[in-house]
Amino acid sequence: MDFPVSRLRRMRRTEALRSLVRETHLRPEALIYPLFLVPGEGIRRPIGSMPGCFNLSVDEALQEARECVELGLGGLLLFGLPAAKDDDATGAWAEQGIVQTGLRALKADRAFDRLALIADVCLCEYTTHGHCGVISLEGGAPGAGGETRYEIRNDESVELLAKTAVSLARAGADIVAPSDMMDGRVRAIRAQLDDAGCERTPVLSYAAKFASAFYGPFREAADSAPQFGDRRSYQMDGANLREAMREIEQDLREGADMILMKPAMPYLDVLHEARRRFDVPTGAYQVSGEFSMLQAAFERGWLERDRAILESLISIRRAGADFIVTYFAKEAARLLS
Ligand SMILES: [Zn+2]
Repeated sequence: MDFPVSRLRRMRRTEALRSLVRETHLRPEALIYPLFLVPGEGIRRPIGSMPGCFNLSVDEALQEARECVELGLGGLLLFGLPAAKDDDATGAWAEQGIVQTGLRALKADRAFDRLALIADVCLCEYTTHGHCGVISLEGGAPGAGGETRYEIRNDESVELLAKTAVSLARAGADIVAPSDMMDGRVRAIRAQLDDAGCERTPVLSYAAKFASAFYGPFREAADSAPQFGDRRSYQMDGANLREAMREIEQDLREGADMILMKPAMPYLDVLHEARRRFDVPTGAYQVSGEFSMLQAAFERGWLERDRAILESLISIRRAGADFIVTYFAKEAARLLS
């Protein structure tokens, strides 16, 4: 039926009518808030490029988690900045590692049971070189002049990632989330978790993670900038949607329980295609650059803060995300209440 019999504006006339026919909804329990843990006590260090975000010692992180429970958020995604870094990322799987310590503290208090504790599994925060895997250098050492030649060694990295996942699951992670993009890591992690008696711990795979300029501010937050080279030999080329589908398919065959797309807004088509093809819980990560560019616009008064935050999140939901990792989680939950 066409105009004038059909008038689509009829259902937009009042908020009551609009909310009745709204197709997509945001709920605080589908929002995940990332935290960056550091050793020490009473530390709440602002992250310059991410206004409102902090590096937190565990005691401060517990305060933050309390607020997240009150706001009804779905969970926390935990990253760690270790006291010391080395070539083998020892801090990633150390019994007394920073995220392990944080997990045990969170698990010790039943008040946090309502939050899904998701532990990021990667090596880049723990390696001196800042890459997500074990490296072998070919030719000169970094900084010796000329371009550093190096190789990220896949299978050795996978071993360490699996070890890290087991350590985090044992410390209390409800979900382990490998973000490294090595081949075969999900299979190895699943096998090691099962061997260790952690068969109930789900794997959330960052299945399609693109090499993106939008991760810039995170590298300050997690102190994980590569000291040489870049991550394009393991993270995906931003031009490739079909390859992203192969990554997801493989991770699911290897045992991933859920998948995560990263970044979100510049890759909504990838998210949408994943939603269409795979009937698995699917999340998206609104990454630091997406957050910081909105923050910069808010500071200049160029965008209306509340509306822009909610619109950015609803676009990600509409594209197909069941849940969203976002630095706006707390603020969005307040706006939704
Ligand atoms: Zn990494």
